[in-house]
Amino acid sequence: MNNNTYDHYNVELTGELNSEPSRSQIIDKIATTFNLPKEKISQLLNGKPQIIRKDIPHKEAYQIQQALIQCGAQTRLVRIKVQEKPASFSLVPEGEEQTSFQDLTQKITEGTLVECPQCHNIQPPSSFCVHCGSALSDTEPSPTKHSKKILYLGVVSVLMAMVIIAFILW
Ligand SMILES: [Zn+2]
Repeated sequence: MNNNTYDHYNVELTGELNSEPSRSQIIDKIATTFNLPKEKISQLLNGKPQIIRKDIPHKEAYQIQQALIQCGAQTRLVRIKVQEKPASFSLVPEGEEQTSFQDLTQKITEGTLVECPQCHNIQPPSSFCVHCGSALSDTEPSPTKHSKKILYLGVVSVLMAMVIIAFILW
C-alpha cells in the first residue's frame, strides 16, 4: 500500500436513538440487513458510540453507513488519524467525511488540484491548506489569463482569414 494514499475510516453507531423506529425494530433490521445475531446488535446499541467497521476506505464505509441509516440507526464516519502514515493526498477533504463517494468524485474532478506552497500538500482548491492551514489564495489557478490568450488567438485568426479572402477576391 502506498503511504501517501492511506485514508481510512471507522463506521460508528452514535449510540443515540431516533424516536422512530423503536430500538427493537432497529435491531431487527440491522440483523436482517447484515446477517448478524440480534444479541450482538443489542450489545452494540447500548447508548454509547460503538465502532461497527474499522479501517476501511471511504466508499465502503459510506455504503455501510447508508445501510445502517436505512435501518434507522444514527451513525457517523470517523476519519482514522494515522500518525505514521499521513494522508498527505486524501481524496476526502477535511469536513467532507459524510459526503457520498460520487459527490466527492464530482467535486474533485470539477476543480483542479493545487499544491500548498508551505507543505506541498496536493489538494482541491480552497482558501486554506487542509494539512498545515496556510493560505492558498495565491495558488488558485487564474483562468482569466488563459481565456484572454484564446480570445487573442481567435481575433488574430479571424483577421488573417479576412486578409486571405480579400486577397483571393481582389
Ligand atoms: Zn500546507
